[in-house]
Amino acid sequence: MSKETWTAVDRYFTDLLLPTDPILDATLQANAEAGLPSIDVAPNQGKLLNLFAQIQGARTILEIGTLGGYSTIWLARALPADGRLITLEANPHHAQVARKNLEHAGLDHLVEIRLGDALDSLAQLDAEGLGPFDLFFMDADKQSNSEYFQWALNHSRKGSLIITDNVVRNGRVVDEASTDPSVLGVRRFAEHVAAEPRVSATALQTVGSKGYDGFAIAVVTEEI
Ligand code: SAM
Repeated sequence: MSKETWTAVDRYFTDLLLPTDPILDATLQANAEAGLPSIDVAPNQGKLLNLFAQIQGARTILEIGTLGGYSTIWLARALPADGRLITLEANPHHAQVARKNLEHAGLDHLVEIRLGDALDSLAQLDAEGLGPFDLFFMDADKQSNSEYFQWALNHSRKGSLIITDNVVRNGRVVDEASTDPSVLGVRRFAEHVAAEPRVSATALQTVGSKGYDGFAIAVVTEEI
């Protein structure tokens, strides 16, 4: 199958199942106008995140990798009125665009954007005693996925979900000889998850308008 077919199938289901959404459309347009790379999750993947958060009954969410806030909006929409989402972003321009998009979406009261390298922000969240979180979405630099996973686990409760994007890397994840830091990061992360007895996890390959990739999902099975 070709990329054209994957994209057409995504469009078919998206047109059918996801009503036109002026806020999300405006977010993508604002991102493009601000020169952000088009590496946000696809609409049907955003909806999947939203459904995961709803199924989970999530009240607290931590996202790593905000970009323009597209996935943030999908996730935050699943929160109750007193919910909270913290999203971490290293790039000040991305954070500024995301802030405006979240304001426009009427979600800024639920979402806090923390600017800085995610590992520093996580250390700060730790110092503030925040957590546990009900759902984590890890979508930043892949080199640190293992550290992000460990942090997420340490700040979980039994039943927390840890979702990690881009774990397939166009199939390169199976290349044992790869020296690509992102591939190495994903492999280290996957081995870390496999060795952790307090989670139950799987990974899925996906194809669609964003190409060939995949995500991992882990549920925390014990009180931490
Ligand atoms: N989750 C977003 C969405 O679907 O709309 C897309 C996130 S994009 C794939 C990755 C983002 O992570 C970029 O905005 C990048 O600047 C940010 N990022 C990369 N490395 C980071 C780090 N070490 N700390 C914080 N943010 C980082």
